[in-house]
Amino acid sequence: EQNRPKAPVPTDRPAHVRRVLAVASGKGGVGKSTVAANLAAALAARGLSVGVLDADVYGPSMPTMLGVTGKPEFVDGAMEPHLAHGLKIMSMGLLAGADDAMVWRGPMASQAITQMLTQTRWGTETQPLDVLVVDLPPGTGDVQLTLIQKTPLDGAVIVSTPQEVALADARRAHTLFQKVKVPTLGLIENMSGPVFGSGGAKAEAERLGVPFLGDLPLDAGLREAGDAGRPLVSADPDGEVARRFAVVAARV
Ligand code: ADP
Repeated sequence: EQNRPKAPVPTDRPAHVRRVLAVASGKGGVGKSTVAANLAAALAARGLSVGVLDADVYGPSMPTMLGVTGKPEFVDGAMEPHLAHGLKIMSMGLLAGADDAMVWRGPMASQAITQMLTQTRWGTETQPLDVLVVDLPPGTGDVQLTLIQKTPLDGAVIVSTPQEVALADARRAHTLFQKVKVPTLGLIENMSGPVFGSGGAKAEAERLGVPFLGDLPLDAGLREAGDAGRPLVSADPDGEVARRFAVVAARV
């Protein structure tokens, strides 16, 4: 009786999507959305068809980072994602208005995300989407747990800055994914360098027994590109940051 598996939590798989990858962080402001946008661009650069689902209910930043505006059109019973930089994009910020306060509780947030997941035309029968990158809200609380329980994730990438406080939160994020049996595909260290230190995420990945996917320096170009609505990987495809994201894209 004790060992009987719990009934699986029902999840809605989006139609015509091959893989769903989450980008997560234990705390806000570590560069999770920056990584999600650039990882998506790097996956597209590998020739994959890629979508971005901005599920950050606290502060949807994909419309700004990817330079898209306007409510999505509803055609033949499904929402059309915005297209930019070769990516299909759907965001909470496009549906609700970027400036609306979205202080949502877990069930409401997960319902809205399920809708974006299942009612967006990510792919078609003949042209399925290869990868959907989901930018999760930061943190490891009830909202995040409900979301990752209800969203059919095939794997998660965790972003952290090098300091111990951030790494402790990254550890909690990994534990949360373990709880719902979503494999952690690896850790990325962001803002690595003399300001915040370096090497912490690599050591943490080793402790957790998950892959270390690489580090990104604190880089003005990365921030400027994000502010300008274009991932640096697309704006400067031959640059050092694009090269690092190509390595990550090849490993996830
Ligand atoms: P999160 O999604 O974790 O809240 P964001 O991706 O929104 O974090 O990043 C927060 C801010 O930091 C943004 O202005 C972004 O452009 C900037 N930023 C993120 N990573 C870097 C980096 N490696 N170098 C410089 N600025 C960065």
